[in-house]
Amino acid sequence: MTAKILDGKTIAQQERQRVADAVQERIKKGLRPPGLAVILVGQDPASALYVQNKRNACKEVGLFSQTFDYPADVSEEILLNKIDELNHSAHIDGILVQLPLPAHISSDRVLESIAPHKDVDGFHPYNLGKLAQNQPGLRPCTPRGVMTLLSHTEFPLQGAHVCMIGASRIVGRPMALELLNRDATVTICHVYTKDLPKQVTQADVLIVAAGRPHLIPGDWIKPGAIVIDVGINRLPEGKIVGDVDFEQAKLRASWITPVPGGVGPMTVCSLLSNTLLATKLRTGY
Ligand code: NAD
Repeated sequence: MTAKILDGKTIAQQERQRVADAVQERIKKGLRPPGLAVILVGQDPASALYVQNKRNACKEVGLFSQTFDYPADVSEEILLNKIDELNHSAHIDGILVQLPLPAHISSDRVLESIAPHKDVDGFHPYNLGKLAQNQPGLRPCTPRGVMTLLSHTEFPLQGAHVCMIGASRIVGRPMALELLNRDATVTICHVYTKDLPKQVTQADVLIVAAGRPHLIPGDWIKPGAIVIDVGINRLPEGKIVGDVDFEQAKLRASWITPVPGGVGPMTVCSLLSNTLLATKLRTGY
């Protein structure tokens, strides 16, 4: 068996087009485009690149975006004041603070200061609570993107055994809740899990977000399983790989995401969809 490739680039492009069409519809009706504010603190090159990608994506689909760049030694108070101002801004529908923040700033306080209805990253406890209760709301972007990828396989999640490797706040935990909300049987594994191979070999759907290159060898994959590799790891020679041994895993899986070009493009497009959704939820149109 050779797995079909879950092509995140193509699927993300379709999603972006959907957002772009919706933005054009709004403009035709005389409504303003949805607005996203992005806050970047410090000069971390990876964060700066992520923010640049998000700005470009906003531009491509016609969203209004504003960026606020602060030096690494900015005070928490200045950030909180800016978020308060953006919370009250009529033309900003979504606020995103690029993580990680410098150690002297409390990420929890900053994220909780964002008005929940403008929390397009879906990290506010209110929105995570909505997810835990299976109520509509703004969802964390990477799990939302993975759900879109899974919908393209048409695999019935109800009753399926899903193994989620990784339990972080931004990927593993919300991902497990998304799947539970679809009536899957979810096992969450983490660094202290005993007998990881036993969990992986039973999985109809395997989602890996550990940030460990080649953590999952191909022969652990249950034949016919769907494999979603969220991991992004740069090897010493510069190559980007996921957490799964792609070449071997694709000989057993039915569907598999490549790295790069799988989950990554979906995360940015979920942010665009969330901004559109936040606009509709807040303004009612
Ligand atoms: P994190 O470090 O916050 O969490 C990693 C999780 O993996 C933890 O729960 C940890 O217990 C678990 N883990 C680590 N080593 C393990 C092992 N040997 N066995 C079992 N579990 C193990 O990481 P994160 O922020 O969730 O990101 C995980 C990976 O996903 C990273 O490579 C990151 O770059 C990537 N990522 C990709 C996207 C995307 O859009 N594709 C988005 C977010 C994160």
